[in-house]
Amino acid sequence: MAAPLIQVENLKKYFPAGRKQLLKAVDDVSFSIGRGTTLGLVGESGCGKTTIGRTILGIYEPDGGRVLYDGADLAKLNKAQKKAMTRKMQMVFQDPYASLNPFFTVGEIIEEGLLIHKLYPDKAQRRERVYGLLELVGLNREHANRFPHEFSGGQRQRVGIARALALEPEFLVCDEAISALDVSIQAQVVNMLMQFQREMSLTYLFITHDLSMVRHIADQTAVMYMGKMVEYADTGELYSRPAHPYTIGLLSAVPAADPDYQKSHQRIHLQGEVPSPINPKPGCRFCGRCSKALPRCAEEEPVLKNLGGGHFAACHLL
Ligand code: SF4
Repeated sequence: MAAPLIQVENLKKYFPAGRKQLLKAVDDVSFSIGRGTTLGLVGESGCGKTTIGRTILGIYEPDGGRVLYDGADLAKLNKAQKKAMTRKMQMVFQDPYASLNPFFTVGEIIEEGLLIHKLYPDKAQRRERVYGLLELVGLNREHANRFPHEFSGGQRQRVGIARALALEPEFLVCDEAISALDVSIQAQVVNMLMQFQREMSLTYLFITHDLSMVRHIADQTAVMYMGKMVEYADTGELYSRPAHPYTIGLLSAVPAADPDYQKSHQRIHLQGEVPSPINPKPGCRFCGRCSKALPRCAEEEPVLKNLGGGHFAACHLL
């Protein structure tokens, strides 16, 4: 694996949820992302994926653990160092409709970060930079004077990516960045992100509930359930040999390219809803939905076990 750019160690993020209750959105999660690689973070809604992305970016303060960027503990940076770090780490949001200010032109939206960080102080050079970014994402300089509502969903997400790239970041959190787009546009945006990764050595945390797209883009994949990481492996390994019953259930719903594989693998319907992560019960958090649960599963929380070759899973069956 490439040298880690991001290291997340025993990260915890809890939110108060009424009297003496805690919503354990992220509960003791560790992983690293190699420089120039993509980690896919998958799981159903409410499993903590977005909270992890936002805590890495400093939008949320962690309640435990730490995040290292290129070996530096982000919690120990001074104000100036933190500001410099915001240039290196950017986010592409889920909803291209909501994440762009409707009162600003697209040019102003992309220019905003350059002004905040006092880059390109010459106005003409700054405008050229904005035009260059628009062309980079497949738009053109005439688009700079238009407002977000004049664009399609796919074009707006291209604007969001241009805004994220304006500060020449090294690391992008793509939070459900393609979920709101039509399927044909999703592939275009993912291919564009992969091209930028190759050309600019970008590192991605790609957060999604879409397992078919993760297979295409991610080098490693981590599966989250109720604030816990339940499985982590190289993406090819995870998709060909999933070990955790939750991962097996999720993957059984993903259409396979090979019809013989599809016939030989029965679809497993995950029962019920994801329980609330407020004051979770002891034992395995997947226990109430797991068809293979043992008596021990309700009492003892499984820890991640090394299955070899960088493949980890947390289940008492393993
Ligand atoms: Fe199922 Fe038990 Fe494994 Fe949890 S630990 S996934 S309940 S078998």
